[in-house]
Amino acid sequence: MIYIDMFVFIYALLLGSFLNVAAIRLLKKESVSFPPSHCPTCKNKLNVFDLVPVFSYLFLRGKCRYCKQRISALYPFGELLTAFTIFLVYKEIGWTLELIPALLLTVLLLLSVLTDIREKLILDIITFPMLGLLVLIRYFIGTEPFMHYLLGGVVGFSLLLIIAIVSKGGMGGGDIKLYAAIGVGLGPLLTIMSLVLASFAGAIAGVFLLLTGKVKRQEPIPFAPFIFIGTILSFLYGNEIFQWYISFY
Ligand SMILES: [Zn+2]
Repeated sequence: MIYIDMFVFIYALLLGSFLNVAAIRLLKKESVSFPPSHCPTCKNKLNVFDLVPVFSYLFLRGKCRYCKQRISALYPFGELLTAFTIFLVYKEIGWTLELIPALLLTVLLLLSVLTDIREKLILDIITFPMLGLLVLIRYFIGTEPFMHYLLGGVVGFSLLLIIAIVSKGGMGGGDIKLYAAIGVGLGPLLTIMSLVLASFAGAIAGVFLLLTGKVKRQEPIPFAPFIFIGTILSFLYGNEIFQWYISFY
């Protein structure tokens, strides 16, 4: 088992490396597969030793081998976030069919975090195909009937739309569409829980960032990282969280 775990973790690191590139190139409306990986500053083509997740960054001390330009710490961040999240999802869900929608939703969330923290954008070109795929997969795979997941999509979309209208643009269109996909992955109840947890996490981080002066009051902070936290927690531990919550009554 330990070998399979190691294999999953290493594969997830490589996936993280790919998601970084995909996020950056889709933001720039470039092809994901061409040209091959290169330094954004000096355009030198990167060799295999420059592309080892995390280790290349550490070994090169965060600088390009050729032009010594600083490499963004978002690269190892994206790789490690992907590796640990995919590994956690795999350990919690195990080798069941449910792992397929879980991984798909996780990849969508990771890409949303990576584009949102870079450019404060959640891209339709990522969300729409993933939403379509999730609907298709939920038709075949799920512990609940298909309608349950479709209803989840409607609930996720509607809730965020209402928040966007009430807050007069405090929530972007990208968040609304992302929550439609989350709804299809989670079903209605866990979607609501995901939103509650995301709001809590966002509020705590917001207060912290204001107090430490890291952001100004009117400055929007990307919400995708909190959607990510809320959704992963409700997907993996929703029942436990719900049991814990009703134990107070
Ligand atoms: Zn360079």
